Amino acid sequence: KGAIAFKDVRFSYDPERPILKGISFEVPAGKTVAIVGPSGAGKSTISRLLYRFYDIQDGSITIDGQDVRDVTQKSLRAAIGMVPQDTVLFNDTVAYNIRYGRPGADDTEVQKAAEIAQIDTFIKQLPDGYETRVGERGLKLSGGEKQRVAIARTILKAPPILILDEATSALDTTTEHEIQSALDKVSENRTTLVIAHRLSTVIGADEIIVLRAGEIAERGTHAGLLAEN
Ligand code: ADP
Ligand code: ADP
Repeated sequence: KGAIAFKDVRFSYDPERPILKGISFEVPAGKTVAIVGPSGAGKSTISRLLYRFYDIQDGSITIDGQDVRDVTQKSLRAAIGMVPQDTVLFNDTVAYNIRYGRPGADDTEVQKAAEIAQIDTFIKQLPDGYETRVGERGLKLSGGEKQRVAIARTILKAPPILILDEATSALDTTTEHEIQSALDKVSENRTTLVIAHRLSTVIGADEIIVLRAGEIAERGTHAGLLAEN
């Protein structure tokens, strides 16, 4: 479930300046496709269009064959989980922040999600465990810790589609490896769109699309693209 298809998609924020110049690609259900390219190429715009923050001017975007224009914003949000570059957490407990992914989840489910995201051990060492509050006067979390909370939240939400937006770009190398392995677990068997700057962070993708100035410049597997360049 969650197959994505972009067909001849054209989009501009300003009519004078096209951002996406007719791009087509598919992410088969359960597979991972990475969009790689320099800053300003239009990568984040692709995820915003999938979410329908903006409407495209030409072409079509479908999920499981259904045009996103025929899907309500509410169902789109339920179908798509996003791990953004900078996670902003609520000024509340760590458990609250994780449970936000699925408000009905019980404590065991919250803890299980935290374990998969590899932040459980860290939380248990806090003075009040899961009851420690995140925020200015409470706990200060590092970028990597916040991201793991966001990953745990997404694990609970269990959406068919996952968007990872430059998810590891702001982290040091050690943290990056840990986050990467947590992300690999979340994206397993889930339709995943990864947005990344560097080819080196998307080795496991089923297909890599290189976007330059709103056009698909190259596409292939990690090994294939390395061999060509
Ligand atoms: P990337 O994610 O590859 O860095 P973006 O999709 O964020 O690229 O942006 C592509 C281009 O669109 C950039 O030139 C950017 O300045 C422009 N852009 C992005 N968002 C907006 C917006 N809301 N209004 C106008 N221009 C925008
Ligand atoms: P959740 O998936 O945790 O339920 P929401 O559905 O409320 O979160 O929000 C979806 C995601 O979209 C959030 O992670 C948010 O950071 C991201 N988002 C919000 N506005 C934009 C935007 N203009 N461009 C890209 N991503 C955005």
